[in-house]
Amino acid sequence: MKILVLNSGSSSIKFQLMDTADRKVLCKGLIERIGLADAIFNYEKAGCPKTREVRPILDHTTGIKLILDALVHPECGVLASLDEIAAAGHRIVHGGERIKQSVLLCDETLRLIDECTPLAPLHNPANLMGVHAMQALLPTIPNVGVFDTAFHATMPRYAYMYALEYSYYEKHGIRRFGFHGTSHQYVAMRGAEILGKPPAEFNCVTCHLGNGVSLTAVKGGRSMDTTLGFGTVCGVPMGTRSGDVDPAALMHLIDELGMTSRQVCDLIYKGSGLKGISGLTNDMRDIEQAAAAGHERAELALEIFAHAARKYIAALATSLEDRVDAVIFTAGIGENGAEIRERICKGLGFMGVHLDPARNTVRGKEAIVSTDDSPVKVMVVPTNEELMIALDTEAIVKASRA
Ligand code: AMP
Repeated sequence: MKILVLNSGSSSIKFQLMDTADRKVLCKGLIERIGLADAIFNYEKAGCPKTREVRPILDHTTGIKLILDALVHPECGVLASLDEIAAAGHRIVHGGERIKQSVLLCDETLRLIDECTPLAPLHNPANLMGVHAMQALLPTIPNVGVFDTAFHATMPRYAYMYALEYSYYEKHGIRRFGFHGTSHQYVAMRGAEILGKPPAEFNCVTCHLGNGVSLTAVKGGRSMDTTLGFGTVCGVPMGTRSGDVDPAALMHLIDELGMTSRQVCDLIYKGSGLKGISGLTNDMRDIEQAAAAGHERAELALEIFAHAARKYIAALATSLEDRVDAVIFTAGIGENGAEIRERICKGLGFMGVHLDPARNTVRGKEAIVSTDDSPVKVMVVPTNEELMIALDTEAIVKASRA
């Protein structure tokens, strides 16, 4: 099935046309600076050079129209007709409590997504713009929403509840949601495939370590617990986000230092993490370089990052009960950061995680990087959220036709 995968941001649209039959990308691209006269349309057809065009793209409908035109372009196109597109799969950030899986987008589900806007004010409205544009341009093609939160809908109540006074959950919906679900779902599925295990019998801790970071306990293909929560700031420190901080410390900043809630919010989302500790940058490569050159706070940032990731791998393993088959690393740092993987795994021998330093030099490729006799396999699995969205979209469309 040919599926157009769309990830619409407020000023950008990432797209891929995928053939689910062979999991191949037919073409892909990115529109940036939507709303401006000098927007950029990047396009790449498999096996051909990339193109980059600067032109006015004032809204998402114009952007998606350009994408559709490119797909059927006589030279750089990949389709004879737009009728070949079976469906569009849209990445949607927040499905709240009521959307627990990928869904066909209709008036009712779009209303539910809109209701989640207060939970993801920057993302959900932008995601919806992409859906509305597709509905306007290709009204006969089904649209499917695939949610960052949905994979975590299987978490048991004791994992998603905070121990705040109960009415804050009941009346105000304060709970853990979790994010990066499509990435965790994909690497857990792929990890089972690589090891030749039935997904229903495969238990792993998935470590999505990128500019954003979350780790998840996946038991038989189901999320049991995850490090991100109501928002996208807790757990392991990230590029600029703090990870866990005692809320009492944040209250202290407000009550004793007179900071506003907005200033505290900026601090924990934009001024902390690798950047805040090192005083340098949010980029892991630069932090590693600086640490190697003797920069003390860059070294401290690495230590804090590795300690938190290691601590959460061990903690999440408790949600897998009797058996951990694998620890899987993915996203920019997880896929490429051999050194940081080594730092993280170093203290995990007690739970049967034994890294093979020679195998662990791999970057950006699927690999098993543990020793042959390591009871828990350590794996690198490059994430592929677009493929997961395409596969989910295909499944939903097939089910809707049955
Ligand atoms: P992402 O958000 O998944 O694109 O990941 C971005 C992060 O991956 C940044 O902190 C990069 O520095 C990091 N990254 C990319 N390549 C490497 C590498 N070779 N070693 C360590 N970190 C890397």
